Amino acid sequence: MTCPLCNGRGFSTKTEGIYEIVVACSCQRMKQIHAELGASGIPQKYQQYSLLDAPADGRIPFKEAEGFYARGLSEGDALELRHCKMSQKKALAICRERYETYLKAFQTKDESIPTPGFMLRGPCGTGKTHMAATLLTDLVYAGVSPVRFVEYTQLFRQLRYSYGSSELRESDILEPLVKAKVLCLDDLGAQASDNTTWVQDILGYLLNERYGSMLPTIITTNFPDELDEGASGPFLSDRLGVRLRSRIREMCPAVHMTGLDLRQLMDSAKNKGKPG
Ligand SMILES: [Zn+2]
Repeated sequence: MTCPLCNGRGFSTKTEGIYEIVVACSCQRMKQIHAELGASGIPQKYQQYSLLDAPADGRIPFKEAEGFYARGLSEGDALELRHCKMSQKKALAICRERYETYLKAFQTKDESIPTPGFMLRGPCGTGKTHMAATLLTDLVYAGVSPVRFVEYTQLFRQLRYSYGSSELRESDILEPLVKAKVLCLDDLGAQASDNTTWVQDILGYLLNERYGSMLPTIITTNFPDELDEGASGPFLSDRLGVRLRSRIREMCPAVHMTGLDLRQLMDSAKNKGKPG
């Protein structure tokens, strides 16, 4: 559709005193945002959300676990759901705080502002990926670029593909991830390859480079830490090795998302009352 403000010219003119000045039309800004989002790797379904309460651009505010009917749940499940909502609220507050921090640091280019990463950790279905992807989307809308989102197993699949390809090099895949202002590594520790040494080398390179450049990395994972009270394995360190694990602990302090798998809960509530 042609922009009605500028008739597709991409700019408009306004008169100031005796001068007529050319200004870029707001549609150009949206075009740029969509191009950034397209290159970012943020899954499209999350690009319509915002962590902000009232986004000005028509995106949907992210809400903590809502719309899950407490009706039909056992007392135990209802309690779990409350815990889950509480931990989501806490995680959401941290995401918003980081958003402000990154924005300030990257807009002012003030290197004295620390830009720590963080890790969203918890069972499947607690909204970790949604939250992290939405935070990245907010940053793109606010003009922070480039940012990158990559799913862990997908990354290694792409790398494997690149080794047999004449057009794509390993560095074509890794460099944008190394240099992104903010990187989200989704589902860290999932089964990516039988070759653990290779996986650990790649991940070590990526994280060490970002650490050296003081660029924040956001991680989501289902794997618990062996230091967590009452946690049982397999732990993240089992999947990544102790050295990588301690680097990640330093770069990405964990934010725990407790509770239960909301998707599973919905299904079980639906299936209740069904015969047999
Ligand atoms: Zn326009």
